Amino acid sequence: MIPRIRIAHLPTAVESLPRLSTALGGPKILVKRDDQTGLAMGGNKTRKLEFVLAEAQAHAARTLITVGAVQSNHCRQTAALAARFGYRCILVLSGDPTKGANGNLLLDHLFGAEIVWTSKARRAETFKQTFDEAWAAGERPYMIPLGASNAVGALGYVFALQEMLDQGVHPDWIVFASSSGGTQAGLMLGAELHGYKGRIFGISVDESANTLKGIAARLASETSERFGQRIQFEPAQVEVNEDYIGEGYAVMGVREMEAIQLFAKMEGLLLDPVYTGRAGAGLIDLIRTGFFKPGETVLFWHTGGTPALFAESYAARLSSL
Ligand SMILES: *Cc1c(COP(=O)(O)O)cnc(C)c1O
Repeated sequence: MIPRIRIAHLPTAVESLPRLSTALGGPKILVKRDDQTGLAMGGNKTRKLEFVLAEAQAHAARTLITVGAVQSNHCRQTAALAARFGYRCILVLSGDPTKGANGNLLLDHLFGAEIVWTSKARRAETFKQTFDEAWAAGERPYMIPLGASNAVGALGYVFALQEMLDQGVHPDWIVFASSSGGTQAGLMLGAELHGYKGRIFGISVDESANTLKGIAARLASETSERFGQRIQFEPAQVEVNEDYIGEGYAVMGVREMEAIQLFAKMEGLLLDPVYTGRAGAGLIDLIRTGFFKPGETVLFWHTGGTPALFAESYAARLSSL
């Protein structure tokens, strides 16, 4: 048995998006609602954190330390988890501390997380330094990597893939926002373990396809060892599209804005400006350019992120739509 602390509200719903599908003249579109995992406004990190928390408990940790950008959904979910289980939480965030606390950052504050500010360039270094200081102070810190994407966190999506199959859902494609690779690695390993033959198609949010393929293949291989036998994944087996990175991480462009508006108006469904808005924009473009074959079913795996809609810089621009 793989140690796991049950936190998420599972299984998450699978819904169909017929109005969006008709508007795009496209394939049948389903959505898997991991924006509704139940922990502090939900998201994909909750599934990963179920396994990460079990490991932190096994290490008798008292402080959770993790890292991300200012509007990190991963950091928000970690902070909520820490509050719920009585851990101290330190978040190492890259961004501008003078901009005011809104969106995810506001929630980090409400959960009582302590914030150490840094720049993106110095983030890894500050993360390690923060851990070393907490360790030296006897805080029993536990380090959760960026996006909880290690061989422990990725387990969340191995079980998620199984959950989808248990729901009787067998789409031809799974399309989702891919960034630190844990979601993709978990889904791929889950597919391998359960004989799912559909295509697992990550839309990169920030990394080049080559980089992300390497990360996901390594993570999937490493994670497989938890099931008793190593399965070797090669980068060439990982499907990543890098065409929608636009102006880079967390820069909401016209494509993301159109996707957010279209999903909202057609289905009453909220995407986020950083991840699902970008993946949604990719999905829309792929449908319009005839990428999917007639009769195919595409499942858009919603990974969460909606609190970022209320971050001032995004909200101000979205309100002009
Ligand atoms: C972290 C995150 C992702 C990316 O997941 P990875 O496992 O890091 O690739 C996608 N969407 C949202 C909303 C996220 O917060």
